[in-house]
Amino acid sequence: MLRFRRPKPPKGFAKEVDAARRVVARAIAAGQVPEFHPSWRKGEYKREFVAAQHGKCGYCETYLLNHPPAMEHYAPKGEVEALANEGVEADGIYGVRDRDTQQISRTGYHWLAYDWNNWLLACERCNTGWKRSLFPVREDPHPCPPTPDQPYTALLLSPFGVDDPVEHLEFSVLGEVIPRDGSEYGEATIRTLGFSRRESLRNVRQGFAADATQHARGLEQALVDGKLDIAQIHTEELISLGGEERLHAGMVRSIVLSRLGLHWSQMEELAEKLAASTPPHTKDPRLAVRRRARGQKQ
Ligand SMILES: [Zn+2]
Repeated sequence: MLRFRRPKPPKGFAKEVDAARRVVARAIAAGQVPEFHPSWRKGEYKREFVAAQHGKCGYCETYLLNHPPAMEHYAPKGEVEALANEGVEADGIYGVRDRDTQQISRTGYHWLAYDWNNWLLACERCNTGWKRSLFPVREDPHPCPPTPDQPYTALLLSPFGVDDPVEHLEFSVLGEVIPRDGSEYGEATIRTLGFSRRESLRNVRQGFAADATQHARGLEQALVDGKLDIAQIHTEELISLGGEERLHAGMVRSIVLSRLGLHWSQMEELAEKLAASTPPHTKDPRLAVRRRARGQKQ
């Protein structure tokens, strides 16, 4: 998972969803379970999030292009569920087997149903298959039914959250994920999204994880050896792999943090320093190709 900059709501958004919001508020005031008008399906809204998320699922970082994205409510608008059994991926990428979620409240965070800040785009697999109406919080038991004046600490990481998911998730060279340093946010997120139960996801991550690990090791060794031109090659590869628009860039950044102890902004600084310090007459052909691409002298 990678942190993105939340898009701004389109002009007139608050007015457009106001009627639907009031219908929900009236139902709650009458002690009923509200029905929700799916205003969030509007193409214009989705387009804003597709651009902000570079066409990727906000949770699993796979591309949304091959299946219709769902507007995901981070805090569930309707019922709230608790996870009873994590289950496992089955029948290819769409199936989920033995995942058991149980309702703990008939009503959820209904006042956030039309809140732009509660929305993100997620793939159907994350949205419907794994996350469902789960919303882990630190409080135990989960305050239910949720009300606007009841404080809570959400443990599910978000691509638009305050906490950087990179700081809470750690990945192996095989693309397996665990909580970083026992992070409770990391653990709750992995369980809620089934991240460690989805072999297809690990399979896709594996190649990127191997590349990132290899370049991180190469960079470390090159810096130890004082070979700045080689260090620059590995740095540029990592910067490319961890680019916001790239698949599993969040994982690549997590691997950089684990292997090199560098946060992404530090990695970018290192790339700039190396680019400025590497002599332009290096003989390494890979670097020469890059220089040509950037229009620099050999
Ligand atoms: Zn997803």
